Amino acid sequence: MTESAEEVWARIVGAKRQEIGGECPECAGVAPERIVWEDEFWILSYTDGPAEMAASLLLQTREHTRVGQLDDEIASQFGRISNRLTRIIENLPETSYVDVSRYGAHRGHFHVWFFAPFAPGTNTPADLHAIATKLANWGGDARA
Ligand SMILES: [Zn+2]
Repeated sequence: MTESAEEVWARIVGAKRQEIGGECPECAGVAPERIVWEDEFWILSYTDGPAEMAASLLLQTREHTRVGQLDDEIASQFGRISNRLTRIIENLPETSYVDVSRYGAHRGHFHVWFFAPFAPGTNTPADLHAIATKLANWGGDARA
């Protein structure tokens, strides 16, 4: 099943469960063409990121929530997805390791960055299709 960019956009925005004051910049800013992988609860997208990175990925909830307010099921999903994603990225020939970072406590969505510097002696961007399809082995949909 292939969705148009407009359908993906409508689904992402439509998935939000609670309003926060005013327009949410993350809901407004999710670019469908940047989505690498997604499922019912999560969106993994790529960003331009720092120049020395083979991959700069952002994992965020569809729901408006924040760390410390995740229910146990979402928190468990986060642990599983993060563990798989890190393992997948660190096994790519383009990357050396992954830094997992959370910034921006006041943004509307729980979101965590995965920054993967280039492997020594390389400057090839990480294979987003490989990341997407491997992550989709546990569910969700590969978009890259
Ligand atoms: Zn939002």
